Amino acid sequence: MPTGNMSTNKDYYEVIGVEKTATPEEIKKAFRRKARALHPDNKDSGDEKAFKELAEAYEVLSDQNKRSAYDRYGHEGVKGASRRFDDVDFSSFAGFGMDDILEALFGQGVRGGGFGGGFGRSAGPAQGAHLKHDLQIDFLEAVFGCEKKLDVSRLDDCTTCLGTGAAAGSTVSTCTTCNGAGQVKELVNMLFVQTYQITTCPHCKGHGKKVDKPCRDCRGDGVTRKKKDFTLPVPAGIADGSRMRVAGLGDKGPFGGPFGDLFVIIHVKPHKDFVRDGNTVHVKQTISFSMAALGGEILVPTVDGSKILKIPAGIQSGSQLLMKEYGVPPLQGQGRRGDQIVHVVVNTPTKLSGDHRELFKKLAELHGESLTVDPEALKEPEEPKKQKKDATKSGTHTALKESEDGKGKANGKKKTNGEEKEDTLLDKIVDAFRPKNSE
Ligand SMILES: [Zn+2]
Ligand SMILES: [Zn+2]
Repeated sequence: MPTGNMSTNKDYYEVIGVEKTATPEEIKKAFRRKARALHPDNKDSGDEKAFKELAEAYEVLSDQNKRSAYDRYGHEGVKGASRRFDDVDFSSFAGFGMDDILEALFGQGVRGGGFGGGFGRSAGPAQGAHLKHDLQIDFLEAVFGCEKKLDVSRLDDCTTCLGTGAAAGSTVSTCTTCNGAGQVKELVNMLFVQTYQITTCPHCKGHGKKVDKPCRDCRGDGVTRKKKDFTLPVPAGIADGSRMRVAGLGDKGPFGGPFGDLFVIIHVKPHKDFVRDGNTVHVKQTISFSMAALGGEILVPTVDGSKILKIPAGIQSGSQLLMKEYGVPPLQGQGRRGDQIVHVVVNTPTKLSGDHRELFKKLAELHGESLTVDPEALKEPEEPKKQKKDATKSGTHTALKESEDGKGKANGKKKTNGEEKEDTLLDKIVDAFRPKNSE
């Protein structure tokens, strides 16, 4: 079918639904609204014929020259100047977003906002690539913030040709493939559908121009890789895995295109004392038997340095003590500072001197505690409580204490290296500390 036959004779302004005095912005808005309604994906109001008419009308009215020709001479004035859309198979667009379709039909400039300057789809020369940089920082640097010098290797304008890609004395002409646009539309097959894709012109690489003698330093690309120093302010409270975007620190777009962005991925090194969970800092603190029984004061590491912590008398192993606002400061100063949670581990002495041994025996006597089991006890028809432990003095002692407390012995207990853990959170924390402790 020869192109032009299917072109509409309807008034273009009526097709789009605007006054003759409408501004380009109004035309664009009305067009987008209608195009969405007539979208081939739209089961209720989708209409391929109307969509083509709409596209044709927009093709003319969105172009200032074509629009004034149409205003003066009507359809005759734009005959041949406007593109026909009847050779476009709109059903192939099913499943594609409105923006993809509009971009395929009209190129840039039709898309709605939301992608401003983003991923190389803005008008004008293509933006350079975004770059990624992995940055390792210390635990405390993440807590309190820091400044880090980055050495970024990125594409920048070639100094020799000043980004033109042309050697001295070279003639420059318009690329015939893309007529200087730097981009070409091509029909591509994507699985089951065909769609139009706008790609950088393969002949001029987006330059829009042909250079007979390319610059030797950049091979005509107009850009070369250069080092760029940059000091990155890392905010206090930043979390491991965070991504910081530094606008304009990516690659230079060739031939005058804007710089891409740099994405810095923050990797926080683990700390020997602290484990972070959000803004809460966990720390494991070992105390002695005597301290657990009598209470007292100890020095506990915090991100602010060592601080005094009061230990209440009779504290159990696995207890958690709160140190308010000794955690991680809130990111961007929003909200309150996190806390530190101290996980108390009562240290069972392993090497006892003779004196110590005597003292502990006396202690057991004072408690009226037997350090062995009377075989008679096994014969009693008691409910089979599983209280079997290593027959060490302290073991029996602990078991006694705990059953007094009525603490659930069966749940949340795990045996690792002969050490008993209580409380799953402590398990996690202790596990996190384990490799460092064994070093
Ligand atoms: Zn160059
Ligand atoms: Zn070209």
